[in-house]
Amino acid sequence: MPLIYGILFILRCYISLNIIFSGIIVNLPIFNMTHMKAQKYQHLFFDLDRTLWDFDGNSRITLREIFENRDLQQKLGTDFDGFIRFYKPYNLQLWDQYKQGQIEKAYLSVERFAGSLRHFGLDDVDLATKISKDYLTISPTKTKLFPDALEVLETLKADYQMHIITNGFNEVQFVKLENSGLMPFFKNIITSEMIGVQKPKPEIFSYAMAQSDANKEESLMIGDDQDSDIIGAQNAGMDQVFVDFHHDPLKANPTYHIHQLKDLLNIL
Ligand SMILES: [Mg+2]
Repeated sequence: MPLIYGILFILRCYISLNIIFSGIIVNLPIFNMTHMKAQKYQHLFFDLDRTLWDFDGNSRITLREIFENRDLQQKLGTDFDGFIRFYKPYNLQLWDQYKQGQIEKAYLSVERFAGSLRHFGLDDVDLATKISKDYLTISPTKTKLFPDALEVLETLKADYQMHIITNGFNEVQFVKLENSGLMPFFKNIITSEMIGVQKPKPEIFSYAMAQSDANKEESLMIGDDQDSDIIGAQNAGMDQVFVDFHHDPLKANPTYHIHQLKDLLNIL
């Protein structure tokens, strides 16, 4: 029996010492891994539309509002879903033509509605022009963000300087940022209109980094568009996060690939 007590005593001493020393050791700053987190990136550059600001969701809310205010169900003989079924692909088709330089933006803005009205038998360019103005005025005031956007930015702002790089017009993009509560998180807002060059041109990324006193090694581009954001940032020498909400087929090879904004907290 004394032998068993002896073994138990030694075991208890061993465990106690272990607890005491492990407690001391893990609390020493040099061993505390939370203080040793290496922070590679200092500057986070976010895309706005379809990355933080839910462009398609806000667009749908806006179109529904206009559809009702302009009494389009009565005028076109279709319900909202019927209208959207034609409008959506027609709008995309016009955007493709615009990107290929075949049509001007002013034409696109009105024709997407004029063509949709025509499809339902109403040839009325005046009404289409009014709807286009409604859309451009109302849409940026909508505030639908992707899930966790504000919470993630709130967490990241403690450790990073954050900026926006967006293809868009100043007037519209600043209204979106203000209304949706995003503005206070960002130090620099770079729009393609400011410098006359759109993503994926490397110049817009270089300009954004210069404005932010950032070098490319410590900069990370976060966006939903593989051509504009990911390949664009790659060509500018920045690491990138592809925010892939829709599980699209990969055509670039991004540094990081996530499916929801809160996944950023696992990377950063
Ligand atoms: Mg985007």
